[in-house]
Amino acid sequence: MRRLRAALLALVLLAPLPFVCDSSVYARAPARVAPDTENSDPPAAFLYQPFEGTGYFRITAYFDHTCPDYNATGGEPAEDLTVFSGHTLAEHCRSFYSDGTPAAGCTGPIRAFDNTTWELPHAYYSGHDGYDFAVSGQALSAARGLVTFADWKGDCGWMVEIMHDDLGSGYKTRYCHLEPHSNEQYGVELGTMVWDAGQPIGIIDNSGASSGTHLHFSVWRYNGDAPPDKQWNPTDPFGWDISVSPTDPLVACNGEQSHNLWVGGWPQLKGDPPTEPSPLVEGEFRGGWFGAGVAPPCVPRAEFLDIESFPDGTVVQPGQSMDKWWRLKNTGTCDWSGYQLMFESGEQMGGPGSVAIPTTAAGASIDIHVPMVAPTSGGDHAGYWRIVSPSGAWVDGGRLWIKVSVAGSTTSDHIISFTADPASPSTANTVLLHARVNWWSEFRAMRVRVGDQSMETSETDHVFQWDTTSVPRGDHAIVLEVATHSDLSWSSPERRTILYTLEGEPAPSNHAPNRPTLVSPYDWYVTVGSPPQLCAQAQGDPDGDPVSQYYFDVRGHDLWNSGWISSNCVTPS
Ligand SMILES: [Zn+2]
Repeated sequence: MRRLRAALLALVLLAPLPFVCDSSVYARAPARVAPDTENSDPPAAFLYQPFEGTGYFRITAYFDHTCPDYNATGGEPAEDLTVFSGHTLAEHCRSFYSDGTPAAGCTGPIRAFDNTTWELPHAYYSGHDGYDFAVSGQALSAARGLVTFADWKGDCGWMVEIMHDDLGSGYKTRYCHLEPHSNEQYGVELGTMVWDAGQPIGIIDNSGASSGTHLHFSVWRYNGDAPPDKQWNPTDPFGWDISVSPTDPLVACNGEQSHNLWVGGWPQLKGDPPTEPSPLVEGEFRGGWFGAGVAPPCVPRAEFLDIESFPDGTVVQPGQSMDKWWRLKNTGTCDWSGYQLMFESGEQMGGPGSVAIPTTAAGASIDIHVPMVAPTSGGDHAGYWRIVSPSGAWVDGGRLWIKVSVAGSTTSDHIISFTADPASPSTANTVLLHARVNWWSEFRAMRVRVGDQSMETSETDHVFQWDTTSVPRGDHAIVLEVATHSDLSWSSPERRTILYTLEGEPAPSNHAPNRPTLVSPYDWYVTVGSPPQLCAQAQGDPDGDPVSQYYFDVRGHDLWNSGWISSNCVTPS
């Protein structure tokens, strides 16, 4: 009998939920970049409270200063220390009045955020690039700026992003987990100018990876000295108190010190926000060119429509000429005129360094053609391209690539034969790949690569089994490689390629029985009591197989307990 699992995933049911984002959303790879020498002076404070209401509010999660390393677990407490300048916070104190005064009971030693990751309470956790305010109602712009994003953004949910300086410099703010499309009722869309702080830009909600209604607010700062894809980095708008610890850990990753950016030192409402631009006071920071009467610039943005010639994995002949094209939509508010597609990295495959993109109006679609020639060496090849504006800036969403497999073999002195059974084309669920190599003293290993699969052996006569049950139908390049003892990294193997076509439909596989989701209460349930129990539905393999064992995977934010049991209920411990 096939082994069946009824997995229960990510259930956080035994403790009251703090309103936080899922940290996996924001955890990023280390991005150590050059120090920001461009603007080392502390900036003027310019942010106002990004939500409605006065009085009491709670911060349920703070900014992680070890960003973007986000190595909170095991870090020194000081490294994970955010200090609200001038305010005294007690351990685990997360409730404040809108002037920054801690609520009753929140007295005691300065600072101290628990240096825990995914343990309650979530005052602080690894990888968090902003602040979670446990508030509801309208999200408000924190400063004057240009809306550069208003759409779904992965685990951030529905997000509005406002750029507070010229595009490609200064600061931007992000507002996550908003009610989808709620920005539209305020006339706030991509390219809209928000004339002042305090204007409603959406409704605070629970969209994306969020466990309750809250506003995730983050501030990003531009570093022109960093590589183009690492120029925007999260920063802490509450700053870092160098009197407590001299070095902001953010310096190590983003090359910069956090500064308190709140006008008055604490989030406070901008009084009676005007709907028209208020007069500029000389010296007042409103972000670069955002002065009264200045027409807002357009926002360049592109989206690949998933229509192209030579899609990923296409098998081509050595030296074949390729009319490579991608279909894109201009999803920004700028008309493209004078834009180019530039070669960025990987293999250029005979293409030019850049091609001019025909003039494309905002909202229109375009096919961008690049003449290329397939490489002559067998195996996988990739090249990466970028859409660049006339000023040389990379356009968001404009990164494209070509990934092809070249059929055929390299010079081969040792491969005797490489055959597939059954021969191509077929509908087989398992294809046997028989490889034979003449042994010689330098022989180390041979392997077969196809798609994401790779199988290796040190034998010289071997039958590899290619399981195709979950492989898409169509053409596949199956590559045999043979390496020597002096080539441990498969950098220059002998190679032979078989072009194989899979036809028909993949064989039905035994799907996981009723993998539960949080929207289907019939797949699992909880009994409250002592002790509480977590139960999977007792029946229900879609294939009709009897279910005799259940696999439980009980999680808070960490794995608490897991394993196979013969009962459909478990008592989490
Ligand atoms: Zn958050």
